[in-house]
Amino acid sequence: MTRIFEPFRIKSVEPIKFTTKTDREKFLKEAHNNVFLVKAKNVLIDLLTDSGTSAMSAQQWGAMMVGDESYAGAESYYHFEAAVKNIMGFKHIIPTHQGRAAEKIIGSLMGGKGKSFVSNSFFDTTRGNIEFSGAEAIDFLTAEGKQPSLIADFKGNMDTVALEHYIQQRGAENIPLCVLTITNNSGGGQPVSMQNIKETSAICKKYGILFFIDACRFAENAYFIKTREKGYENKSILEICQETFSYADGCTMSAKKDALVNIGGFICMNDDKLAMEAKNLLIIMEGFPTYGGLAGRDLEAIAQGLHEVLEEDYLEYRIGTMKYIGEKLTAAGVPILQPTGGHAVYLDAKAFMAHIPPHQLPGIALTNALYIEGGIRGVEIGSLMFGKYDEKGAYVPATLELVRLAIPRRVYTQSHMDYMCDVIIDVYKQRTQYKGYKITYEAPLLRHFTAHMEAL
Ligand SMILES: *Cc1c(COP(=O)(O)O)cnc(C)c1O
Repeated sequence: MTRIFEPFRIKSVEPIKFTTKTDREKFLKEAHNNVFLVKAKNVLIDLLTDSGTSAMSAQQWGAMMVGDESYAGAESYYHFEAAVKNIMGFKHIIPTHQGRAAEKIIGSLMGGKGKSFVSNSFFDTTRGNIEFSGAEAIDFLTAEGKQPSLIADFKGNMDTVALEHYIQQRGAENIPLCVLTITNNSGGGQPVSMQNIKETSAICKKYGILFFIDACRFAENAYFIKTREKGYENKSILEICQETFSYADGCTMSAKKDALVNIGGFICMNDDKLAMEAKNLLIIMEGFPTYGGLAGRDLEAIAQGLHEVLEEDYLEYRIGTMKYIGEKLTAAGVPILQPTGGHAVYLDAKAFMAHIPPHQLPGIALTNALYIEGGIRGVEIGSLMFGKYDEKGAYVPATLELVRLAIPRRVYTQSHMDYMCDVIIDVYKQRTQYKGYKITYEAPLLRHFTAHMEAL
């Protein structure tokens, strides 16, 4: 791809405030060298997350005006339900305020001590909700997915051999649920093939284990299936999505991703008894089952977003953007996770900042360099996020040192992406001038959000 064609024109704009390198040095210092503590208004290109950061369409804003705010049985709920049912086909469709509320329901209803949940890769909030219930959460990622530089089509797949082996050892009665995350967020936004979805489903059926899909990026995954998997090239995105969900007993969804909205989520299932229990929990946690913690207008925006996300022009632009960035950086010699996935580009900070050892946080050195040089905000996924101390207090670094650049949907143009690539390439050319960091304050849990750091 030599060019990104944005399949939209811009009707409403949000100004970006320019800052100088000197400004940004001051802002980062005030933020204790942690970009999570920098004010968003002082960021030029914000790539912290693709969650809830989408630009809504004129049709979505229009739909919000007709939101029905009735407490029970609002018309907006039925619009939302019909849109979800069209794609996912499940019998019961329950709105929640975001994805993790749907996961909390799963954890509460099926979790508990002595239980094991299995997945290709659990997303961290899903894992958190399972572990909070006392159960354990185990990943069975395909071997291909564990090699950052390997180019393969479906690096997000489940290792079905390891999964089946584990089920036989552990006993199916101790495994309440199998979750397939599409695309595989923790694994770099890598897709899962239809073949793998089918095989995982068949294993779950064979052993009587409930099979759910973590559906956050279901449309991006369908586009990869269409363009990479034999037999799907002439199917529509809708048909591929319908087939995907036909193999599952239910799903959880963060509408902040592929429903193109700023807030929302849902949980679906076919089982009547499970749905009844979920609705009972929902009423104390989120709200009445026809609004689930959302306003009627949010449900309208989701319904319309689910329609728009299936458009092939949009998906070609979306996935094409990652590919474009990936090719441009690779051509300049910048080390990235290969191949680019659906929603983000990951820089390999270990190779990029090879002169900085893991305990001096090379991912933070790179994240901070991108902010200071170009006002770009990415996120370190490395030793600040996952580094640990062993029993003797010795430092154990993360296996990978990555910097994730998550691309918000329909927000930035090609010239923003070109600017971003230029900044990354400039930083790469002068990489040896950047120094490592040490932590001066860390919280006992999830330290990366609030840590204070100092340059060495
Ligand atoms: C974002 C995300 C979630 C959680 O959704 P929230 O809306 O942020 O609560 C769950 N799973 C995956 C794969 C995600 O990307």
